[in-house]
Amino acid sequence: MKIKDVAVAGTGVLGSQIAFQTAFKGFEVSAYDINDEALEKAKERFNVLKERYQEDKYGTKEEVEAAYNRISLHTDLAKAVENADLVIEAVPELLDIKQNFYKKLSQVAKKETIFASNSSTMIPSQLVGFTDRPEKYLHLHFANEIWKLNIAEVMKHEGTAPEVFDEVIEFAKAIGMVPIPLHKEQPGYVLNTLLVPHLKAAMQMVVDGVAAPEVVDKTWMISTGAPLGPFAFLDIIGPNTPYNLYKAWGEEGDELSARVAGWIKSEYLDKGKMGTANGKGVYTY
Ligand code: NAD
Repeated sequence: MKIKDVAVAGTGVLGSQIAFQTAFKGFEVSAYDINDEALEKAKERFNVLKERYQEDKYGTKEEVEAAYNRISLHTDLAKAVENADLVIEAVPELLDIKQNFYKKLSQVAKKETIFASNSSTMIPSQLVGFTDRPEKYLHLHFANEIWKLNIAEVMKHEGTAPEVFDEVIEFAKAIGMVPIPLHKEQPGYVLNTLLVPHLKAAMQMVVDGVAAPEVVDKTWMISTGAPLGPFAFLDIIGPNTPYNLYKAWGEEGDELSARVAGWIKSEYLDKGKMGTANGKGVYTY
């Protein structure tokens, strides 16, 4: 495989996990963030990941320490990416931040470097124009807790070179992911294309007084054999992302999304329930 050195830009919730998992699987990783304060937070995140990997029996103490030692931290983008064969971008989900990032990155990365965005809600053609290398640009989307929920959705746009798509799929396998190749652009990739309407339909029945959350979950679990129902899954995701998403759609005129967002606000946010993150959701943990 040609990809050996990897840079991860943005060391927040997902970027820290991507950097750590990549290092855990033996790659040299440069992690980039905007200032020293953000990098201090990244160190804390890596320390939490070291614990989580051991608790989950995913790695030994020696292995997680070795992973940590393979990560270098940078606030200078040019330094961070100077040897990178692949840059994985996990900066905030705001178009102007991503735009500025790709413009700067295009100026400093070597011309062979592949750029991959972890964006959840944008598609490659929204961002590719900010780069200088359409044929080496694609999306590589992970799920939160990537060492456990080890899926990597690889999505190309019309101009992505086939060999770049194949290389990134090989890379995803090499870091322990199950690659999901998407040959065309699809907002939400495979997972969220299925999940977002599924959760909305589940909440609609509760909001309309049709059935209680536990009943909706039981129906799904017994009839499909799934171990969790939509509300148990909502507890895992936490209220913030679904609330922001459905609220935005509500503001665009989708009346059901507005009602569903209202339900998330009153049932989770106003009661301080953050799902499994603080043990309080539709269920108590
Ligand atoms: P986050 O807010 O936790 O982290 C963002 C990081 O980017 C922070 O460390 C911040 O300091 C840094 N940053 C800000 N401006 C930057 C810049 N100009 N250059 C480099 N770094 C910069 O966000 P997150 O939840 O990790 O999300 C990051 C990306 O990952 C988004 O595109 C999001 O859609 C995607 N994603 C998130 C999740 C999730 O569950 N959180 C899941 C899959 C994909």
